[in-house]
Amino acid sequence: MYRHLILAVTLGFVTVTDVEGQPIKERRCVVCEQVIIVPRTGPYGKFLACSNYPSCDHKPKV
Ligand SMILES: [Zn+2]
Repeated sequence: MYRHLILAVTLGFVTVTDVEGQPIKERRCVVCEQVIIVPRTGPYGKFLACSNYPSCDHKPKV
């Protein structure tokens, strides 16, 4: 997913979207403060998680 995002930004897209075309809203982890929350897909469906995982396992509600 990160490779997809970096490519999109490099090509000059203003709106960053995920693989389904949904805009990604940048959110900062309330625990780390410097790290953004990224959408992930797990065995129980989509969820948000800190990109500093596993160092930080903060998972905000969607
Ligand atoms: Zn965090």
